[in-house]
Amino acid sequence: ALTIGIVGLPNVGKSTMFNALTKNNVLAANYPFATIEPNVGVVPLPDPRLKQLAEIFGSEKILPATVSFVDIAGIVRGASEGEGLGNKFLANIREADAICQVVRAFVDDDVTHVDGKVSPASDMETINTELILADLQTLENAIPRIEKEVRQKKDDKKSSELLDTALASRTVLEAGQTLYAAIHAGNTDIDTTYTRQLGLLTTKPFVYVFNVDEDQLTDEAFQSEMQALVAPADAIFLNAKLESEVAELDDEDAAELLESVGITERGLDQLAHKGFHTLGLQTYLTAGPKESRAWTIPQGATAPQAAGVIHTDFQKGFIKAEVISFEDLVATGSVAEARAKGKARMEGKDYVMQDGDVVEFRFNV
Ligand code: GDP
Repeated sequence: ALTIGIVGLPNVGKSTMFNALTKNNVLAANYPFATIEPNVGVVPLPDPRLKQLAEIFGSEKILPATVSFVDIAGIVRGASEGEGLGNKFLANIREADAICQVVRAFVDDDVTHVDGKVSPASDMETINTELILADLQTLENAIPRIEKEVRQKKDDKKSSELLDTALASRTVLEAGQTLYAAIHAGNTDIDTTYTRQLGLLTTKPFVYVFNVDEDQLTDEAFQSEMQALVAPADAIFLNAKLESEVAELDDEDAAELLESVGITERGLDQLAHKGFHTLGLQTYLTAGPKESRAWTIPQGATAPQAAGVIHTDFQKGFIKAEVISFEDLVATGSVAEARAKGKARMEGKDYVMQDGDVVEFRFNV
């Protein structure tokens, strides 16, 4: 499964947020066989459509899609130079598919800030600088090796393309930019197939969590200022302490607490949605008397690829998919009615899955 690595300076509220992420009884009950590691938090992607499907089909269970977060401790200023940025930290962050940076915006004199004052912009700069320096170091080791390879294997397209990406990446990083930002800004000299091969960290998609004071949760001016700072990445604003309190409550009490601070959605639910989007994922739905379920696929996946997420045999023996859009199913009230009204489509192997497709696959075994 794809994972999002959580990084941030010490004392910004990572552990507090992570604890809230892992208080997940719903998941433990629904996925009894999932191995849950201590530094991994599995978060359900809230999807109100599943409840409606369960009503239509009389499903016993609801299984939402999930997003996994890995707690990656250990980044401080100067980390990329010394032993501080241990190999473990680098390995952890390399394994993650996206990076979630937690930034402190809350003010609390009782909580020490590593640099003595609360400054989201300079904290982000510190972390980005360390990641950029780590990538520059990776390239410093890799470039001579690739150059040698290019000399030895003349006309080898792959190694010369690898070198081109390595050199273009170095230029970007030396200018203080992350590769993710450069690629989003339209830099076409950087090929992500090769940056992945090189293990460069700053190519990964970023998402930012601002751990804010309660009054900042509704401060639009502040939020748009921060969003502008982190673009093209997404920003989420939450209060980690509040999130961990909310995580202990039932839905009704949680909604009441959220309302009292002027918000309607848990910060962690927003994070699950934004994280899902950052990872380039989408869901499709299946439903029956046993369960209503959301399945995770990459954006742009075809029907057989989607079937393969349920079982590899479904992909191999794929014949066709019967697809009803969620809206049509709700409007008609049942699969039989949807069929009668011509709302059920038979799609073949080239069909590209759309968000909200309710699907039943036909396959050979
Ligand atoms: P980490 O080092 O980034 O993992 O930070 P922790 O989660 O351990 O938090 C550091 C300290 O900040 C703890 O004393 C937390 O209780 C406190 N803290 C975390 N989030 C908030 C918050 O939103 N507001 C306030 N006032 N304190 C917080």
